[in-house]
Amino acid sequence: MLLAVAAGDGHATFSLTAVLIGMALLLANGAFVAAEISLLAARRTRFEEAAEGGDRRARRALAAHRELSVTFSGAQLGITMCSLGLGAVAEPAVQALLIDLLATTPVPAGVIPVLSLAVALSLVVFLHMVVGEMAPKNLAIAAPERVALRLIGPFAGFVLLFRPLILFLNWLANLLVRAVRVTPVDERQLVHTPDELALALAESEDLGTIAPQDARMLDAALRLAAIDAEAAMTPRVDLAAVPDTASVGDVLDLAADTGHTRIPVYHEDLDHIVGIVHVKDALIRDEDDRARLTVTDLLRPIEAVPESRDLEHLLYDMLEQSSHAVVVVDEFGGTAGLITLEDVLEELVGEIADEFDAEQEPRRTPERSWVVPGTMRRDEVERLTGIVLAGDGDAETVSGYLVEQLGRLLEVGDVVTTADGWRLTVRSLEGRRAGEIEVHAPPVVEKGATSTSD
Ligand code: ADP
Repeated sequence: MLLAVAAGDGHATFSLTAVLIGMALLLANGAFVAAEISLLAARRTRFEEAAEGGDRRARRALAAHRELSVTFSGAQLGITMCSLGLGAVAEPAVQALLIDLLATTPVPAGVIPVLSLAVALSLVVFLHMVVGEMAPKNLAIAAPERVALRLIGPFAGFVLLFRPLILFLNWLANLLVRAVRVTPVDERQLVHTPDELALALAESEDLGTIAPQDARMLDAALRLAAIDAEAAMTPRVDLAAVPDTASVGDVLDLAADTGHTRIPVYHEDLDHIVGIVHVKDALIRDEDDRARLTVTDLLRPIEAVPESRDLEHLLYDMLEQSSHAVVVVDEFGGTAGLITLEDVLEELVGEIADEFDAEQEPRRTPERSWVVPGTMRRDEVERLTGIVLAGDGDAETVSGYLVEQLGRLLEVGDVVTTADGWRLTVRSLEGRRAGEIEVHAPPVVEKGATSTSD
């Protein structure tokens, strides 16, 4: 067709060739845009995996990813060259073709130059935007790794060819960046804060790329450093401990009663814990020894940590020292509670119920209400039910929260209503704290339920 036109009219040949060059520039423009966006959006880990497997394109993509500012400057140079070329070649060519076309129509000759210019400009700008920019951008966002690998060969060749110019332009641009007191970076920062990671985890779980139980455990691992020993310990009032004057038989009796295998030993009062006795140490003794020995003969040392020790560090401490239980000490040096490896692991994997655990479990009752143990942590109740237990106090448990809200010790039947209408009712007491608490959600107001229909 080109030849046929060429044979007939030199002017038309030029226009058509220029239009073809314009189309090529349009595609090249799109390729530069797609290369730029895909390299920005692609996950580097994907390239790393493929590069390790020997994929040369992935290795090149990785190299381009490592010097992102050069890559972007290269893409920018390519886009600018194509855009200028389009303006210089394609637009006049389209206009020339239109002039030829309009000359055969009844359009007045005086109007033809202006009309053809307006139409040619609109057409070229439209094509540049849609074909040269938007479509490649959307494609690159939808499948960044695939697009990047497809384009990296020619794109890397272009960057290599124009490297000196690109480096010079990039240096000039970085001068401007430094002028506004910002340090330019070459590699995209791949570090994320724990909050960003948690967000990414939640999104991955929603999209189904991570199994819910894995997402939960990873999320819990990220939050471990934010939980302190005080929040996870068994409080002092629940300790099964013996004085240092107790016999080995006493320890066995207490272990049988409570189901605990490690019994702290104190001198005079609970604030002076001197060690811990493991039930196994008592069980391996014969009857005579059990009657003769006291707990001090079986005493093992026990570490102490402040209430503020975070669980992540505590876990490492415990693993390093092979200790399964530590005493938690309050700010006055007194005993606040006991924390075992199980308490820490429960934060990672959820409740671990062994054969002897008599822990109360939260239950869901109908009508958007739950019954939870008073010892349940505030944040756990919030996660379970959706309630927000706002307040300035520093109570760890939901029972402590109610005490803070009421400003006195609890009684059965006490009710606290939160600002957004949730109701907490004390159903039973365990000593001075709440045994069971009912958490009742406010009634759901259906959208439009208040409006009357006629
Ligand atoms: P055990 O199986 O001996 O009870 P675990 O380490 O499995 O020990 O702990 C289970 C739960 O019991 C944890 O919440 C822990 O804090 C608590 N616990 C362990 N020993 C005692 C104890 N002597 N007194 C009170 N609570 C304890």
